[in-house]
Amino acid sequence: MLSANLYARWPARGGSVQALQENHEMFPPERLLQAIWQQQRLLRDQLHTLDGQPVRILHPGFKNHGAGPDFHGAMVQIGAESARAGDVEIDLRTSGWRAHGHDRNPAFRNVVLHVIWEGEKAAAAGMPVLVLKGKLDAPLKELDAWLTQDSLPENLQGRCCAPLRELTPERLRDLLHQAAQVRWQAKANQFQARARQVGWEQSLWEGLFRALGYKQNVWPMQSLAELRPHWLRPALTPMALQARLLGVSGLLPDQLTRTQAATDDYLRQIWDQWWREREEFSALIFPRELWRFNGLRPANHPQRRLALAAHWLAAADLLPKLEKWFTAKLPDNKLVDSLGEILQVQRDDFWSWHWTFRSARMARPQPLLGDGRVTDLAINVILPWFWIRAVEGRNEGLQRVAEQRYLAWPAAEDNSVLRLARQRLLGGAKPKVLPGAAAQQGLLQIVRDFCDHSNAICEQCQFPDLVRDWTGKA
Ligand code: SF4
Repeated sequence: MLSANLYARWPARGGSVQALQENHEMFPPERLLQAIWQQQRLLRDQLHTLDGQPVRILHPGFKNHGAGPDFHGAMVQIGAESARAGDVEIDLRTSGWRAHGHDRNPAFRNVVLHVIWEGEKAAAAGMPVLVLKGKLDAPLKELDAWLTQDSLPENLQGRCCAPLRELTPERLRDLLHQAAQVRWQAKANQFQARARQVGWEQSLWEGLFRALGYKQNVWPMQSLAELRPHWLRPALTPMALQARLLGVSGLLPDQLTRTQAATDDYLRQIWDQWWREREEFSALIFPRELWRFNGLRPANHPQRRLALAAHWLAAADLLPKLEKWFTAKLPDNKLVDSLGEILQVQRDDFWSWHWTFRSARMARPQPLLGDGRVTDLAINVILPWFWIRAVEGRNEGLQRVAEQRYLAWPAAEDNSVLRLARQRLLGGAKPKVLPGAAAQQGLLQIVRDFCDHSNAICEQCQFPDLVRDWTGKA
C-alpha cells in the first residue's frame, strides 16, 4: 500500500512537471530556478555575464528563507577580477529587479550577481547579470523532478560534516551540550553585568523585552525596557500601559482605519489616554523608523508584543510567580505548560482578536504568546537569569535546577538559521537529530564560533580537526 505522505507529494510534483511540458516556451517557476542554482545544475564552465565576462561560481551561497536576496554568502569570480563574496538574487527577468523594489531596498546592496532566466539588459548599471536559459545541464522537466529532494549535495556541506557523521548520537549530543553551555554562560554573564548596574529585576525585564523583539526588533525593545523606570508607575491598567508603550515606542497609528469599527474603537481609547500624557513623555518617543517589519510574522509584530508586556507589567506579580515556578518540583513534561500558564494572558479585548491594527478581526481568539515563544523566553532569558542569580547567591541547589531544566527543555521551533546549520554541519539531518532546546543552542553556538569566522567553503576553519582530535581521544 502506498504511504499517504508519498501520495500527497504526487499532485504538486505532477502538476509542475506537466506545466513545464505543456509550456516549454514559458518561464519556469522561480522556486525551480532557485533549486537549480542551489544545486548548481548548470553548465558551470560555460557561464558568462550579459556583457560577455566569464563567470566562475566558487560557491552558490546559502538559501535565504527570510526577507532579502535569495542566497547569502555566495562567492563568484567575474572575468579577471578576484573572487567576490556577497548575495545572489534570482529573478525571471532583469525587470524583476526594479519591479520587486530591489533597487530601493538596502538589503540588496550586497548582491554580487543577478541571476535571471532570460533577458538582454542589466537591471542596474554595473550589476553583473547571468542568464540561465540555455545553460542548464538537463532539461527543465527532468530538473523539476528532483526539486523536492531535501538534502544538499556533498559540495554544499561543511567540511565538519564528515567527522560529525562519525559520532554516535550520544557523542554528538554531548558535543552540542558542551557548546550550549558556552552559550548559556554568555547569556548569563550578560544578565549579571547588567544586574550590577540596574538590579536583578530590571535586568530580567530587559531580557524579556529583548526576547519579545524577536530577531528584527531586539534593540528597540531593549531601549524601551531600559526606559522602564521612566514610564512605569504603580497601579496602571493594561490599557493605560498599552497606550504608554505604544505611544513611547512610536508604534501608535495616528489615523483611524475608518473601515474597522473594533480597531477604531480601541484606537480611540488608547489615544484618549495617550493625549493626556504625550507631552510628559515627548522626550522619550522613538521614531517609527527604528522598527523593522520586513519578513515579520503578524504574531510577532511589536505592537502585539507590547500589548502582552503591558499585561505582565500591569499585573505586577510576574517575578514572584516566576520564582514560585522555578522553585516548584515539576516533571520535565510539565515545564513548558507550567511556564506558559504564567506568561500567557487570559484575554485581551482587542489583541486576542487581532494580529495587528491593520488586520481584520479573527474568527477565534488567538493566544498572545505561543508555545514557541515560551521556549525562547525560558532558554534565552528566564533560566539563565535564575541560574546566574543562584551563582551569585552561591546556591548550588538552584543552579542545578536551572541546569537540569535547560537540558530537559524540549526543542524550540525550527527556523531558517537552524535549518541552514543542520544542512551545513549535519548533512541536512532532520530536526529530530537535535532532541532538545540545549542541543539546538549548541549547534547555534558552533555556527557563531566557527562558521561566522569562516566562509562558504570553510576556509581555515579548525572545527573539523577539533572534532577529529576529540573523537581520537575518546
Ligand atoms: S565553517 Fe567550520 S563549522 Fe562551519 S560548516 Fe564549515 S567546517 Fe563546519
